[in-house]
Amino acid sequence: MRSTKIRVEPALLRRINERRLLEFLQISGPSSRARLRKISGLTAPTVSKVVDSLLEQGLLEEIDPVRPAMGRPGRLVRMASASALVLGVLVNADRCTIVVAGLDGRIDDHRTRHLVTPATYQGLIAALDRECRAALVGLAGAPQGIGVVVDGLINDREQEVVCCANLHMLDRRNPARDLESRIGVRCRLLKGTSALCLSERACSDAADRDDFCVFDITTGIGLGIMSGGSLVAGHSGMAGEIGHVVIDPDGSLCGCGNRGCLETLATDAAIVRLVSTKAGTALAPDEVARLLEERPADFACEIDTVANRLALAASMAINILNPTRLLIHSRVFLVSEARCDAVRAALKRLGLAASVDDCRVERTRSSKEQAAVAGIIHEITQTWAPALR
Ligand SMILES: [Zn+2]
Repeated sequence: MRSTKIRVEPALLRRINERRLLEFLQISGPSSRARLRKISGLTAPTVSKVVDSLLEQGLLEEIDPVRPAMGRPGRLVRMASASALVLGVLVNADRCTIVVAGLDGRIDDHRTRHLVTPATYQGLIAALDRECRAALVGLAGAPQGIGVVVDGLINDREQEVVCCANLHMLDRRNPARDLESRIGVRCRLLKGTSALCLSERACSDAADRDDFCVFDITTGIGLGIMSGGSLVAGHSGMAGEIGHVVIDPDGSLCGCGNRGCLETLATDAAIVRLVSTKAGTALAPDEVARLLEERPADFACEIDTVANRLALAASMAINILNPTRLLIHSRVFLVSEARCDAVRAALKRLGLAASVDDCRVERTRSSKEQAAVAGIIHEITQTWAPALR
């Protein structure tokens, strides 16, 4: 029988091993070389060589353990916090935000910059270029990448915004590619819900990391899916657009062009609209959040309406995906445990009992800024080398 040997070039093999350790450290945090050996299955000399190479490239750093074990304390390695940097960019209809973080994902709050979203696309790219450069002034670390989060329908295969209901100047564009050509740093267009899945995975316990989903109801309603430890993207990366499922064909017009989409009914924008109607004046999201906090009884009907609609969307996701957790990201509606309880109660009535009992409904712990950072760090790791599965 002829043996079939696959020859892997040593340089490629080293990159593949580097990727394995980067992936592990990104998800699990600081680790000793012994632990890396155990988890990766690589030999001690290989782990040592790979770690040394990543330290030399500035992608990892060594730290002392918090409480040294008995005997000789082994140093820990972690993703670099200062020698390698990433930026996260959030592009929203009213304003954009830029954050700087280390490869360990920690954001340097003093460097966060906000700007009013310019009126034209060219103005937007020029402003992002300027602000990203300003955010990095005086830092010694090398920028490794910029994650650009857009809340809209994104075709990941084509790397293009298909439709951004709140900011149509982004339609058929790729602000990440256009920013990259100006700033000369790798930029990646990211879908908000997928990026949130990555930031939530980074702050989850090991038992909760593999099968969960995220609802982002801050603008529309998007669904991010982590299944078996991997993001579910679909053929073109457009999976999870649950917000555009039509549940009332005669309902209000949605940004996508259809009527009565779920996202016209079960979002932060929906509660702002309902409370504004009741108050008889157009209220800002922050004002609505305050009113709901101070006078929940006055808006019980509105809260109930949105909780029921959100539970309907949640029941679809839970029935289909059977996640261990459904995490909801919200800035106005779901900012209190009481409102979370209202959604849970409605879900009990609407969902399949066995699947609902199997799933915890919680609020997200990470911010969109952390999501942008987690998204670009994931991208850097994924493109470091092909994965061996
Ligand atoms: Zn729609």
